[in-house]
Amino acid sequence: MERRIREKIIGKLLFLTNGAMLGIILGLLVQNCGQRQWSVNASGLVEKTEAVTGTSASANVINQSEKEEENICYLTFDDGPSSNTVKILDILKKYEAKATFFVIGNSLTEENREIVERMIKEGHCIGLHANDHNYSKFYESENSWQQDLELLENRLEKEYGIKTRLFRFPGGSACHYMKGNVKEHIAAMHEKGMVCFDWNVSGEDSVGSPTTALIYQNVLQGALKYHTPVVLLHDSSIADATVEALKDILRELSSRGYRFETLENRKEYIFRSSRE
Ligand SMILES: [Zn+2]
Repeated sequence: MERRIREKIIGKLLFLTNGAMLGIILGLLVQNCGQRQWSVNASGLVEKTEAVTGTSASANVINQSEKEEENICYLTFDDGPSSNTVKILDILKKYEAKATFFVIGNSLTEENREIVERMIKEGHCIGLHANDHNYSKFYESENSWQQDLELLENRLEKEYGIKTRLFRFPGGSACHYMKGNVKEHIAAMHEKGMVCFDWNVSGEDSVGSPTTALIYQNVLQGALKYHTPVVLLHDSSIADATVEALKDILRELSSRGYRFETLENRKEYIFRSSRE
């Protein structure tokens, strides 16, 4: 009788010990999953791992496989050069940052010649944008935009000795002036050996009269979602707020581990809607 009671007690104790151990193991597993699901990387970004969620990475979520990639920001400035370009070049120099300038032929005046020469000397890149940045004229017919670009291309080559393969459609490849011919237009540029660039981050600095704070916020919020953001900004004569915002943008993104390079070092980027 006593022996049976003793065996019963030992059996219960074993059951309780196993249960406790199982509880501890389960607890550890749950805790580990919790740790794996979210982590903060060196640049302060919160990452969600695919292993736990089972979902593919969206634009807002950095994929685990990309985690090891370097953070390289591609700043681009459209619609210059102008007096604001000089200020932008000064700021870029301070941060040892390189950028790409999609220039307008009509702004390549004798007065602005030195600015273009300085861009090249300081290691920035120049891309084609438009000779005459007038959307309705540029996109007037099937061939009008190609003729316009030839003018710009020839001027850059003859007057500045610049041959570029970088190009950005005025308004971007998804603008309504393309009239549904976007794929043909991109193919025509590819045939000429050109590489086309839209953007995945916009400072929205040419829309209305944005404040410096808003441009900064637009760029920061957008750029931090990507390892290799292509940032749209402007260096036209009215882009004063952009100049002011740029100082803070460079300081903040530098401190978060981003380097700044020209698009010569990046593969083509075209809006998804223009590719599909
Ligand atoms: Zn433009």
